Amino acid sequence: MVNTDSSQPLTLATEIPPVVARLRSTFDNGRTKPISWRRAQLRALRRMLTEERPAWDKALKDDLGKPSLEAHITEIGYVVNEIDHMLKNLASWLRPKRVGVPMALAPAKARWVREPLGTVLIISPWNYPLNLALAPLAGAIAAGNSAVIKPSELAPAISSALAELVPRYLDTEAVAVVEGGVPESTALLEERFDHIFYTGNAAVARIVMAAAVKHLTPVTLELGGKSPAVVEPGVDLTTTARRLVWGKFTNAGQTCVAPDYVLAIGDTARGLQRELARAITEMFGSDPKTSPDYGRIVNERHFDRLSALLESGEVVAGGRTDRGSLYMEPTVLGGVDPDSPVMAEEIFGPILPVITVPDLDAAIRFVNERDKPLALYGFTDSEATKRRLTTETSSGGLAFGLPIAHLAVPDLPFGGVGESGMGAYHAETSIDTFSHVKSVLDKSLALDTMKPAYAPITAFKEKLMRRMV
Ligand code: NAD
Repeated sequence: MVNTDSSQPLTLATEIPPVVARLRSTFDNGRTKPISWRRAQLRALRRMLTEERPAWDKALKDDLGKPSLEAHITEIGYVVNEIDHMLKNLASWLRPKRVGVPMALAPAKARWVREPLGTVLIISPWNYPLNLALAPLAGAIAAGNSAVIKPSELAPAISSALAELVPRYLDTEAVAVVEGGVPESTALLEERFDHIFYTGNAAVARIVMAAAVKHLTPVTLELGGKSPAVVEPGVDLTTTARRLVWGKFTNAGQTCVAPDYVLAIGDTARGLQRELARAITEMFGSDPKTSPDYGRIVNERHFDRLSALLESGEVVAGGRTDRGSLYMEPTVLGGVDPDSPVMAEEIFGPILPVITVPDLDAAIRFVNERDKPLALYGFTDSEATKRRLTTETSSGGLAFGLPIAHLAVPDLPFGGVGESGMGAYHAETSIDTFSHVKSVLDKSLALDTMKPAYAPITAFKEKLMRRMV
């Protein structure tokens, strides 16, 4: 049984340097490099997820009121699928890639190989606290690194379960969990790592990046932002509304790629709002508070922040709240002014503002005048509109007809651009993120074909070299 008692002492800051030193020495000894070690650890990680499912379910329920199927789809099953995909493809991803050599260097062989970076730090947030700690960890292990995970203190049950279960399943010489909040993260960031993988908000990302500068440590920053959903006239509004409701209100809207707001083109807003209200009732009943399929807000601070945003427009669906149980009804706001508070920052909760724009040009302008989002969603039947959204806007990811699910396509890299982040991961992209790509040129010493390049340069050598290079 996992101890989820939050009074349990967390990692002490003084314990951090020896932990990192231990992981570094493990890496330096070469233990994490063989593919056999990587595979064994990935299988152990998979076992930890499946054998301890009741503990994960309970912790996710305690931290976020996560329904069990949602926990399976977005956290446990999600990481298991990622691991299975890695186990199946790892050997081919790690195979050296042969490339051709220019005539002037022939005969020779050239290839590039991926080598692990060393010891990596993974700092994860509270909203998908298991997935966002373990999916990057799977990548770090698959690429042959040792790793520290620092789970979010705002999901204390998952943090504590990770601290207890990871050492039970994984190689403790190579993988460690450091629990805690800002002081522990700060102490970790004092250490030298070979890569820092941070998921969370852009303000802390700046702190992480500044700390990384000291050791020239590369960083991956998986951030958030306001992901728009553009809805064109003429689309099937019933299906569009159902998919928006599904994508927005999963995890009570606390999803980095949730549609943040809708840009309804032309006269679609009224019909869409009616269908959104209908879809909410269809999925969560007339009182979503009693629905077993709807989650809760993570804490009072976020609840209060979100409650203040309900004033930003006309409530056309939902709007009821209960601070005691951190419940906020799935809510749609109509008639929202682009300058209202709900449009100032990422909402990260169950409030969906609908903004009317006259045409696609205006929608594209609206997107481009703001920070580059983590995702952009288009609901359209027009291939021309899809082409325009693809080429005339910039976002971490782009999906037509279905929000948030592009994360479930294993071979699609996942990451942001600009304010929504830098770098990416998932599947082979995780191997890239946690590896250095080393170029290898191999020229035999047996026959010296390089003589024309050596000084002194004669007229003949010059003619020959100019022809070849
Ligand atoms: P959070 O508060 O849990 O913070 C994330 C991590 O940063 C935690 O481990 C926390 O301990 C650490 N941290 C906090 N302050 C720190 C400091 N001063 N120095 C060092 N570390 C510190 O989570 P959050 O930031 O509220 O997460 C929500 C944000 O994350 C949203 O913007 C969301 O869109 C984004 N997000 C992005 C992704 C993605 O994959 N791109 C996924 C989930 C969430």
